[in-house]
Amino acid sequence: MVQIADNNLFKGFTPIDLMEATYLAAGNFQVRAFFEAKDEILKVGKFSESEFFEILDAMIDAETERKLVLERLQGKDPLFLEEIVKEVEEFPSENVIRDVIYLKEQAFIQELVETKTKTVVKKIKGEEKEVEVKEYFYRYQTKESPIERYFEPVSIVFNAGVCCQCGWCSSICPVNAIQVTADNLEVDNDTCMKCGLCFSVCPRSFSIDQAYKSIKKLDKSLTWSDKIGAYVNAYTATTTKDEIKKVRQDGGIVTSILEYLLKNKLVDAIVAVQHSKDIWRPEPVIVDDIKDLYKTAGTKYANSPSLTIIGDAMKYEKIVFVGVPCMMKAIEKGALYPSGLPFFNNIKYKIGLFCMESFPYSEIIKLTKDKFEKEIDQLTKMNIDKGKFIINLKSGEELAVDLKEVQSYARDNCHYCEDLTSDYADISVGSIGSQAGFSSVITRSKEGDKLFNEIIKAGLIASESLKDVKPGQGLLERIAGSKRTNCKSILLG
Ligand SMILES: Cc1cc2nc3c(=O)[nH]c(=O)nc-3n(C[C@H](O)[C@H](O)[C@H](O)COP(=O)(O)OP(=O)(O)OC[C@H]3O[C@@H](n4cnc5c(N)ncnc54)[C@H](O)[C@@H]3O)c2cc1C
Ligand code: SF4
Ligand code: SF4
Ligand code: SF4
Repeated sequence: MVQIADNNLFKGFTPIDLMEATYLAAGNFQVRAFFEAKDEILKVGKFSESEFFEILDAMIDAETERKLVLERLQGKDPLFLEEIVKEVEEFPSENVIRDVIYLKEQAFIQELVETKTKTVVKKIKGEEKEVEVKEYFYRYQTKESPIERYFEPVSIVFNAGVCCQCGWCSSICPVNAIQVTADNLEVDNDTCMKCGLCFSVCPRSFSIDQAYKSIKKLDKSLTWSDKIGAYVNAYTATTTKDEIKKVRQDGGIVTSILEYLLKNKLVDAIVAVQHSKDIWRPEPVIVDDIKDLYKTAGTKYANSPSLTIIGDAMKYEKIVFVGVPCMMKAIEKGALYPSGLPFFNNIKYKIGLFCMESFPYSEIIKLTKDKFEKEIDQLTKMNIDKGKFIINLKSGEELAVDLKEVQSYARDNCHYCEDLTSDYADISVGSIGSQAGFSSVITRSKEGDKLFNEIIKAGLIASESLKDVKPGQGLLERIAGSKRTNCKSILLG
């Protein structure tokens, strides 16, 4: 339960207000479901008893905070998030923003959207033209007679055809009721205790983009772009190490960062992917010995449910996770809702890859046969560059087809994904914007930028600003913007 005397977070509130909010929080369906299933959860063995209570405390704290925010907004006119932050000064701004978005999902608050049209000057085919663009404004107000919404298990996301198979829900579920593979998801309804935690953390259940945008815009040390999100710096970079050059996909930046982190004991283990016994079918892997690191290098374009193994990585105090944008969002959402679950505390760094789409493994085999008349085991590399899908063969040959020709093989659920550049990572890495043999690198947090600059200083990476090279940041922003514009909307049944 909430420690009234010790808990600094709540120090601005009177004991009466706090007790009332805690009482209401303890009645929340997620808290009750989790508490009532204590015996089953401990029997499954995912959490020790002390971890169970730590999670319960975190859930009650998060819910208590929301009740206090809700109370403060009762009877107020619709407010912008920036105005709400000022109304509830006792809590950190980012807490208040994410609380409002969560309260909206819980059906306690309504979102009111206004649109305005403004005229801007844009360069189109070299000519400056005036174009009209729509701007959206969001205000929030409490509902008059709210009925709390119960979150369903994530089968609702899978059945709607929008699950990206990240695997996060299966690691989160306290009773191991969810099985996720690269192309399937099953919830065991007999084991499920209907806590809705999986739904809270799923990147495809409800959007946190509005909260992300508002939180990042408050941080004046970050630059904001509607296309590539918030960032500290953008670079083009390449490894200086010959061994990494032999195994890398582009600039070898991801492997260089992982090597530096492991060598300097800044992390105890990395979570990435490697070829499974079926070559080019990626399998998630935990590496704690540097000698196994290079097996993880290079891009496998089939999707991997990498977040399924985060539970196995719990035994390490500090880990770094490598994954695609949907996984970065999943981790961020898990860390926010409910806040501070002990489960996530060991993820020290998130390295996000750029990703336009991924392919089912069966379709990778098919496209290799259909488009190139080759067997998958003849390939040494696959790459997407300058609008082409390119394969390299053991014979030394390189073959390419237009990317458009292979797009029908990509996963349908990737069409619901708006993020190209891993907005939610600490460091994002991809090829768009850089020359061959280089990666484009976006540092998104102060820790991420500090780490990247330490590695440059150690002489392991050579780098310059992405703004100073061709095609550079301009192309990256254009392509990232078009992914956002063309993204399909998610509708859950
Ligand atoms: C499915 C997919 C689609 C991509 N699409 C684009 C794109 O459209 N545009 C673009 O600019 N870049 C894209 N990338 C990123 C790009 O291919 C490189 O991974 C990136 O430039 C890093 O290069 P590097 O040389 O620094 O990486 P390396 O040093 O070679 O390391 C690559 C890292 O990626 C991890 N990895 C490989 N495959 C997967 C996978 N399937 N799932 C999770 N992790 C994986 C490896 O374990 C390794 O840690 C994509 C990557 C993936 C996995
Ligand atoms: S499947 Fe989801 S709702 Fe059911 S117990 Fe697991 S986390 Fe809770
Ligand atoms: S958390 Fe990931 S795997 Fe689970 S339902 Fe959501 S998208 Fe699918
Ligand atoms: S396009 Fe989006 S949903 Fe598909 S694999 Fe990449 S990040 Fe995940």
